[in-house]
Amino acid sequence: MSEKFKAVVIGGGPGGYVCAIRLAQLGLKTACIDSRGSLGGTCLNVGCIPSKSLLNLSEEFHKVKNLSSKGIEVGEVKLNLNKMMKNKDKAVMILTKGVEFLLKKNKVSYFKGVGSFKTKNEISIKNKEKKEIIISADKVIIATGSVPVSLPGIEFDEKIILSSTGALKIEQVPKKMVVVGGGYIGLEMGSVWSRLGAEVHVVEFLENITPGMDLEISQEFMKILKKQGIKFHMGHKVQTIQKKTSGAIVKTIDKEGKKNDFDCDVVLVSVGRKPNTNGLNLENVGVELDEKKRIKTDKNFKTNQDNIYAIGDVIIGPMLAHKAEDEGIAVAENIVGQSGHVNYNTIPGVVYTNPEVASIGKTEEQLKEMEIDYKKGKFSFMANSRAKAIDDADGFVKILADAKTDKVLGAHLIGPHAGELIAEIGIAMEFGASSEDIARTCHAHPTFSEAVKEAALSVDKRAIHS
Ligand code: FAD
Ligand code: NAD
Repeated sequence: MSEKFKAVVIGGGPGGYVCAIRLAQLGLKTACIDSRGSLGGTCLNVGCIPSKSLLNLSEEFHKVKNLSSKGIEVGEVKLNLNKMMKNKDKAVMILTKGVEFLLKKNKVSYFKGVGSFKTKNEISIKNKEKKEIIISADKVIIATGSVPVSLPGIEFDEKIILSSTGALKIEQVPKKMVVVGGGYIGLEMGSVWSRLGAEVHVVEFLENITPGMDLEISQEFMKILKKQGIKFHMGHKVQTIQKKTSGAIVKTIDKEGKKNDFDCDVVLVSVGRKPNTNGLNLENVGVELDEKKRIKTDKNFKTNQDNIYAIGDVIIGPMLAHKAEDEGIAVAENIVGQSGHVNYNTIPGVVYTNPEVASIGKTEEQLKEMEIDYKKGKFSFMANSRAKAIDDADGFVKILADAKTDKVLGAHLIGPHAGELIAEIGIAMEFGASSEDIARTCHAHPTFSEAVKEAALSVDKRAIHS
């Protein structure tokens, strides 16, 4: 007899494990299946967490090397890459074990292995030794995430041609690195290796980095990264990557048809990720996919099959850990008859470079396209006393508000701690606040958050410090 559960979650990433915990909190006997051998999914194992560890450590390294101009003399600063990687691995280990503890604490049964549908209510789990067990469930939630895509005909070897996973464990700082794609991964991992000493070239198909981001921010972002030494080759399409005995040649063609070859030690291909439905045997149960091979769901995350749901990177929407988590909570609440809900207009996006870039709501380009009249407030960190005091004043805050009602429609930040500052605007937007509400809120001095208040004041052209 197979063990019977009220709910089974396939995938133990931020979508899946959060969903399993919430289901258990709501009183359902729940199981969570993950094939990786370590919980936390892409995010904790090969995504958010290891990349943020390396971003932080490489930034510290870079900062210490440049302290003498600020009156702090240090001896020779040397990189111990092996130790840095061990620190990253330790952070991953602690956090993934932490998730395992949380599942146990909430009495979620954790199964290690590949989950696939035998029937709509029966899931086969095959472990590494190919041993199979079958469990059954009233409700099944698919949270199998996403995997990196490569370019046609180009395979990741994770030594010379790297996906983000390989870029997180390079053993020696490369002399020259080519990054294909100027999106989230390319710019974060490019920053890491540039700070550690590599010459980094970003080859991007479009004319601007981080497509979809507010244009003014994207342009400022590229300007700042260029100042830091990253080289950009915009409007370049990669045709092929030729491997050599050591290194590779990235062959590109630009908009004018001019061919450019980039010789390098390693290539990071970061041109996006695709939904992961491998091995699920969806054909067995007739779960429908959309044109981009994402699992199709309704607004309650239900697939075309009554008892099967899907959340996170495997469905439509931004591929972000917090989006997956919020969907995990919402679907669990919907399953027990509550009104789980995700507000897709207030999902922040953050690039954890230095400076950080953070975005929420509509961009100026979107508002123009939607023909919505808006007012814009902008305040530079150059005029923020805290940023000036610590000599970290690149960037600005921009707030977009409805021209008639003053309701905040979007905010776009580039600057110190932008990823933390965006939370204030997220709350304001959730409460339907106006820019005036932010402007009238007392912000501590001297803080970076005063730049948010000043940007809000600037919506009505009454900023004090500019
Ligand atoms: P995943 O985290 O991908 O988890 C899915 C899990 O399901 C995996 O463990 C997988 O092994 C398992 N699985 C798949 N198929 C099966 C099966 N058949 N049976 C059992 N288990 C299966 N997002 C942010 O918000 N902030 C960041 O800073 C950030 N940084 C990132 C950095 C990098 C380098 C990368 C690659 C991604 C980053 N992301 C970031 C994106 C984030 O990692 C994903 O959006 C998030 O992990 C998606 O969560 P998920 O639960 O949908 O899927
Ligand atoms: P991305 O979609 O962010 O960027 C891909 C870039 O590659 C785009 O700029 C695109 O124009 C470019 N591109 C596509 N094909 C190309 C080609 N042939 N030649 C040159 N350029 C090409 O994808 P990503 O950087 O791989 O990241 C995947 C996803 O992972 C992100 O969209 C994001 O959802 C998530 N992520 C988030 C964070 C974060 O939240 N800080 C960090 C890393 C990853």
